[in-house]
Amino acid sequence: MRETDVIVVGAGAAGLSLAYRLCTPPPGHPVPDVTLVDAPAGPLRPPERTWCFWETSPGDFDSALTAEWDSLRVRGRDGSATVGRPAPFRYKMLRSGSFEALLARRLDGTGAPRRVAARVDDIRDLASGHGTGAEVTGVAADGSELTLRGRWVFDSRPPRALPPARTTLLQHFRGWFVRTDRPVFDPATADLMDFRTPQPAHGLSFGYVLPTNAYEALVEYTEFSRAVLDDAGYARALRQYTERVLGLGSFEVTATEQGVIPMTDGRFPRRGGRSVFRIGTAGGATRPSTGYTFAAVQRQARAVAGAFHAGRVPEPPPAYSARAGAMDAVLLRGLDSGRVDGAAFFEGLFRRVPMERLLRFLDGDTRPYEDFTIGLRTPVGPMLRTVAELPWLRHRRAGAS
Ligand SMILES: Cc1cc2nc3c(=O)[nH]c(=O)nc-3n(C[C@H](O)[C@H](O)[C@H](O)COP(=O)(O)OP(=O)(O)OC[C@H]3O[C@@H](n4cnc5c(N)ncnc54)[C@H](O)[C@@H]3O)c2cc1C
Repeated sequence: MRETDVIVVGAGAAGLSLAYRLCTPPPGHPVPDVTLVDAPAGPLRPPERTWCFWETSPGDFDSALTAEWDSLRVRGRDGSATVGRPAPFRYKMLRSGSFEALLARRLDGTGAPRRVAARVDDIRDLASGHGTGAEVTGVAADGSELTLRGRWVFDSRPPRALPPARTTLLQHFRGWFVRTDRPVFDPATADLMDFRTPQPAHGLSFGYVLPTNAYEALVEYTEFSRAVLDDAGYARALRQYTERVLGLGSFEVTATEQGVIPMTDGRFPRRGGRSVFRIGTAGGATRPSTGYTFAAVQRQARAVAGAFHAGRVPEPPPAYSARAGAMDAVLLRGLDSGRVDGAAFFEGLFRRVPMERLLRFLDGDTRPYEDFTIGLRTPVGPMLRTVAELPWLRHRRAGAS
């Protein structure tokens, strides 16, 4: 049986980023023996996706970006626009395929990490008396049984069930990559939230437009609500948004993208055993109030690899502070209960808070007094009533009544 320093399970955003950081240690440190196990092509392996995030430039992955913007817009239901420049941040768009190719080029010739295509079924600490570390078992791509042992194992497989929570919403969306006949897009500005979509009875919806040139953009319809739509529902919403709201005229859909991201105040345990840690969405890296994950995944990967290279226990740090978690719990509950009007809430926040501060806030990187001033820009009454209600609510599994 093969024993390695580190086994990373799942080669999505979190697994790939961590394996890359581990395999590029600071000068003078040996490259550790890292095995990266990912599901073979098939239902467990997610299709190519688009990750957006903000950071200052230059960033580590700039050469692989599809596009970046230094102007962002949010539109209210009446079409009024708030345009902000989030400098020093830039909003960046990275396709997962380009990200994988970039990291593969950078590690080319090193033989690291060792890649294994297998479905992992179980990960457990070694029983006492059998050494230190954990064992990964599953089925390799050729159908044979797989057993690997590692000193540390990082698991990024999506959780089978969401954790018990007071509030569980879903951020669900479908996007069309469109090519129009006329130059209709302004490639200098990305539309983060456009509330000119019909608002659902429960939760909120918005359009999201990422133009890559005057003729091409990724146009998405997104909802924060309890249940996903069916195919016809997304198609109807996107047709309505592209034709009636954006007035794109004639266009071709060159590709589609779809996803569901959990928005929950339940806790995702980061520890799966003495030698096992969870990372990525499985380890709580998704910001509950927004669904953004990619930047937190990068912060965690750097922290874990730094601890490992320094000989410390490589435990992933929390992706967000307890304060950020508490504020998100209030917002999620406010949205779910209908006490907070989601479209008005987000539109108001972008109108009243400088874009740079808001993006830092969403990264969990603001000071308490900044959070307080941001709190004052929200509907204070409904938010305070929600704060008072939260301690009385039980954590339940999603779907349980
Ligand atoms: C369509 C879409 C768009 C998104 N856009 C953004 C965005 O713009 N910005 C942002 O910050 N976040 C975004 N997110 C949220 C988040 O960044 C992504 O979901 C991100 O991919 C999460 O990374 P991850 O590594 O945790 O999970 P994943 O990327 O889903 O990786 C999980 C990995 O585990 C593997 N796996 C699963 N089961 C097994 C098994 N049994 N054995 C072995 N391997 C297994 C899979 O093959 C996969 O490689 C988006 C999510 C989706 C779905």
